[in-house]
Amino acid sequence: MIIVLLGPPGAGKGTQGERLAARLGVPKIATGDVLRAAVRDGTPLGLEAKAAMDRGDLVPDAVIMGIMKEALAAPSAAGGAILDGVVRTTPQAAGLSSTLADLSRPLDAVLLFEVDEDELVRRLSGRTTCEGCQKPYFGRQPGESCGADGCTGVLVRRKDDEPEAIRKRMQVYRDQTAPVIDWYEAHGANMVRIDALGTLEDVEARVLTALGSR
Ligand code: ADP
Repeated sequence: MIIVLLGPPGAGKGTQGERLAARLGVPKIATGDVLRAAVRDGTPLGLEAKAAMDRGDLVPDAVIMGIMKEALAAPSAAGGAILDGVVRTTPQAAGLSSTLADLSRPLDAVLLFEVDEDELVRRLSGRTTCEGCQKPYFGRQPGESCGADGCTGVLVRRKDDEPEAIRKRMQVYRDQTAPVIDWYEAHGANMVRIDALGTLEDVEARVLTALGSR
């Protein structure tokens, strides 16, 4: 099963993607996580991506295509994958489509998470993230220890969760990622809109219903 998660920053793609991946027994691939790990490790990829990420801008399509292809070709993804934030521009959507065609694998569903912008800003500005395992938290402060599954990482406020970068990411979403919705519609993808407001459990139930009713 290959499932694309689409939606603005803060819509809950990461959290829901994690749950769905565990349920389906497939990996979740999140380009944001891959890029942040590369930045932390100071790899050439990280050096290339850091400035754009800190500003709230997108990194170049070619960089994302490289990550996407490698992740999909990995043995761990043989049974499928949940692609979280992997597709943010129409060239990336087209690139994924041809990568999957090359691998003779279908795109099973596109889940579009919808939340209004005020709620997104509220969520992102209150978020801290574990520097180690990347788990997001609300209501916990920077400097606290993560503790999830024995993780010893420290919680930080991501640079791109500062107010100015949040505004920039919203703008980037409207300008560059929202057209991906039209692209998938025009290409006949199985796209399902998910109301992403509510508790984690509410949203998860909607996701499962959406997938069950394909
Ligand atoms: P969010 O979805 O909350 O903005 P992510 O952790 O998914 O955060 O991504 C963080 C940053 O990584 C993005 O703002 C962008 O700079 C970069 N990035 C991640 N995925 C992509 C992508 N598919 N195309 C371009 N840039 C990306």
